[in-house]
Amino acid sequence: MTNNINIKEGLEVDSQSEDNRNNSLVIKNLKVSIDDKIILNDINLNIKKGEVHALMGPNGSGKSTLSCTLMGHPQYKVESGTAMFNGKDILQMPTNERACMGLFMGFQYPVSIPGVSMANFLRMAVNSINGKNNPEKKPMPIAKFHKLLKEKMAILKMDSSFTSRYLNDGFSGGEKKKAEILQMAMLEPHMAILDETDSGLDIDALRFVADGVNSLIGPNLGVLIITHYKRILNYIKPQFVHVLYKGRIVVSGGPELSQLLEDQGYEEIIKNNE
Ligand code: ADP
Ligand code: MG
Repeated sequence: MTNNINIKEGLEVDSQSEDNRNNSLVIKNLKVSIDDKIILNDINLNIKKGEVHALMGPNGSGKSTLSCTLMGHPQYKVESGTAMFNGKDILQMPTNERACMGLFMGFQYPVSIPGVSMANFLRMAVNSINGKNNPEKKPMPIAKFHKLLKEKMAILKMDSSFTSRYLNDGFSGGEKKKAEILQMAMLEPHMAILDETDSGLDIDALRFVADGVNSLIGPNLGVLIITHYKRILNYIKPQFVHVLYKGRIVVSGGPELSQLLEDQGYEEIIKNNE
């Protein structure tokens, strides 16, 4: 499988497969450990642009480990396998390069940065991605940035006071998740991994966040929604559902699988598919 991949250089691949270009994320035989303990084993997933996938699983099954590994968190050690994005194995890249390629992660637990306003944070993020992708490009003029921010906030139906506040500082659970979605809207990624974007949200906040994600879904964006409960999938409709259990994907299917999980519970589904 890795014959045509230059592991040492880390980045270049050749695979002729259509999926390896065109912003698809192709994960093959991924095995990940933390402190010498294997957490993920033999993960295979193929998310094409324009597709919405849901990854469901009980607590501790390895959902956040997968999202953090894909973004390059240093705590997670890749034992073997590849994650090809746009023709390159991202597992060898620093996190900022992954982001510059169009990979985005919405955190399960977003961190606060007192002293840095949302607007400044977003401007820095937008400029650093634009600058990395095109070193000739000058930083976006402030007026243009604020116009873009206003447009995106209007699409997401967000209050304008939001962006003068310090990033996630004193934000409610719902506001933190809205802030993640605003980042996603501003960065316009090609592949978004949303780790339990629904956790801790009341029904109004859930609907708001789901509407925001739905407004960004389109033919140029692939989405992996990671969730414990089916609830968010009532609002964001995946075409594919995967169940993660003890670090392995035990079953994959269509949207009906999430309903089956709701009706029968994880144990029953896992028992029938182990
Ligand atoms: P999920 O997101 O599905 O709830 P996680 O990926 O957070 O699951 O955790 C998967 C497993 O890895 C759990 O058994 C958890 O205890 C373990 N784990 C996660 N992070 C760490 C860590 N930093 N150190 C040690 N074990 C960890
Ligand atoms: Mg988690």
